[in-house]
Amino acid sequence: MLWCTSMGLSVFLRRWREFIDFCKKLLWLPTNTPNYMILAELGRNSVNLFTTKIHLDFIDKTLKADNIRYINVITKHMILHKLGWVRWYLDVATRFSIIDNDTLIQLSLFELSNCYLQHLQLEEQSNIQNNIYNAQKHLYYKDIIEDITDMKSYLNTDFKVTDMRIIANIRCEGLQVFGRPWAKVESTLCKVCNINVVEDVVHFLGECLAFERLCIEYFNKPLLLHFEVIDIIKNSAHYHKLVSYMRLALKIRKDKLEI
Ligand SMILES: [Zn+2]
Repeated sequence: MLWCTSMGLSVFLRRWREFIDFCKKLLWLPTNTPNYMILAELGRNSVNLFTTKIHLDFIDKTLKADNIRYINVITKHMILHKLGWVRWYLDVATRFSIIDNDTLIQLSLFELSNCYLQHLQLEEQSNIQNNIYNAQKHLYYKDIIEDITDMKSYLNTDFKVTDMRIIANIRCEGLQVFGRPWAKVESTLCKVCNINVVEDVVHFLGECLAFERLCIEYFNKPLLLHFEVIDIIKNSAHYHKLVSYMRLALKIRKDKLEI
């Protein structure tokens, strides 16, 4: 039975990876977009928390089963001898100081499941924050992200899917410019304005001379400083203007590159 549960969880894990890939495809984000960004944009927890909860619930059921049933006997045997997954839960309990390993009353371990899940959730959120702040390629995400546990409003409003794709690609640095993270190009310099600067999102949105007129039209300035670009990307109040600007700017860029 436990083997079946493990198999079920492995299928669930595969489904979860498919879900993350599906979100990237739906939003037209590059496949190398970090998964932590998807979780932070959606305000979701990773699969580990879900599978841990499923596992704890299942163990709880086996412990409540009749004591002559095999599932009850085997679970108690594993707990008594600290085998397999019991060792993992004990390590987690010790790491979070939920309970001292030596004074553990073994059968009460699973009464602490909510406490486990809360600590695991906090740890996971801390890991996501660390990934965001220590990123080597996606550099401005830390400046635009606020609460990683909330779904970002543009994904949950009246924006069309095509608008969401534009916003998501700007927020997650997925825009197909030469200076995007992990770009396999000979040169990351902007080929539209030719002023020998890297064509990244900040340049595209606030600095590129090719879009000066658009910048004035939508943001009232011919040039945006870095902090002003970050504010536009961060602040959802700008998103309708941002989407319109991006549609026109991308068309201008495409036309110039085709000449
Ligand atoms: Zn340029």
